[in-house]
Amino acid sequence: MGDAALGGVYVHLPFCPYICPYCDFAKWPLRRSDAARYLAALHREIDLSESRRAENIFLGGGTPNAYESAQIVDLLARLNERFPAADAQQEITIEVNPDAVRPGDMEAYARAGINRLSVGVQSFREEESRALGRRHSNADVERCVRDARAAGIRSISVDLIFALPGQREADWIESLDAAIALGVEHCSTYGLTIEPGTRFERLYAGAPERFADEDLEARLYEIAMDRLSEAGFEQYEISNFARPGHRSRHNANYWKNGSYLGLGVGAASYLEGERSTATRLLGEYMEAIERGEPVPRERERLEGLARLGEAMMLALRTAQGVDASAFNQRYGIDPLVTYAATIAGFIEAGVLERSDEHLRLTRRGRLLANIVCGAFVTLE
Ligand code: SF4
Repeated sequence: MGDAALGGVYVHLPFCPYICPYCDFAKWPLRRSDAARYLAALHREIDLSESRRAENIFLGGGTPNAYESAQIVDLLARLNERFPAADAQQEITIEVNPDAVRPGDMEAYARAGINRLSVGVQSFREEESRALGRRHSNADVERCVRDARAAGIRSISVDLIFALPGQREADWIESLDAAIALGVEHCSTYGLTIEPGTRFERLYAGAPERFADEDLEARLYEIAMDRLSEAGFEQYEISNFARPGHRSRHNANYWKNGSYLGLGVGAASYLEGERSTATRLLGEYMEAIERGEPVPRERERLEGLARLGEAMMLALRTAQGVDASAFNQRYGIDPLVTYAATIAGFIEAGVLERSDEHLRLTRRGRLLANIVCGAFVTLE
């Protein structure tokens, strides 16, 4: 077994019962024959991976629960054998689509060691859900959360999307309040992005006025920050809110630039300073494994300023921000010196704040996070 523990293992399960018009993830409509062949390829990829301890395992998609719970339990047994827990706090998450949850799934997941559930809700307003192409009802979400609780799954997260076509402030508040009322421990909120090649891109091109402008999007984001913090959630990252003790270890590992191994089609890895992404072509992925060949992947090694900029960008997304002395210890430079001019400009603009050795986004900075954090990545 490899010495150093992996921060995380991400497993991509790419099949969905239906395809949502805004989605640009690596995903395919569920066909039983493809799903079985893919799972066999994934088993082989796990068997061929170096055995290492892992701090977290994340089953994402796609729709992981498009697979039967027995298949998920078997997959987890294989993962646990190859990637044993690094410590007693190992987090094992599964993403679920609420309308694909079957009776008994949650007990099976909990028995297999899953201790965190991420529910793809997107909106608690059913007309918004339909516009997003989602087919679940609020009753499906409630049943899913109730089953998970009864099974003993300790952390439940919901994903919500704002800046939807036609969405008003009151509509967004309704969704946030429904999430709070459900008693979940974690909430991820994302502004809708129009991704190239999706049906939403064509919809947007034909009627951009139906979508939220930047001002409305910023107001909706501020509403999320206020509403969730009043309800006792800590905003521990730009898009992520958790009750105390329920921050996602999986997410936190990305932001601290920790190592992770991605398994499956399109999955990204970050190992020993190299970032790589497996092919996004389903056939190519399965055929390579079936031939006993390595999965085709794009590789990139971040060096010098590019590596430092990436680390700054990731750390600034979090509530604790950049700890300059910890950064110096890990990367060998003092960011307050290297980026002095950029930091001074952003502090003056009111988007960054500094206290002693810490550098953080201000509230205004969180509204402009992509620009502020992105600036460190593009510096040369
Ligand atoms: S269920 Fe999720 S992964 Fe599947 S199409 Fe919809 S948004 Fe994409």
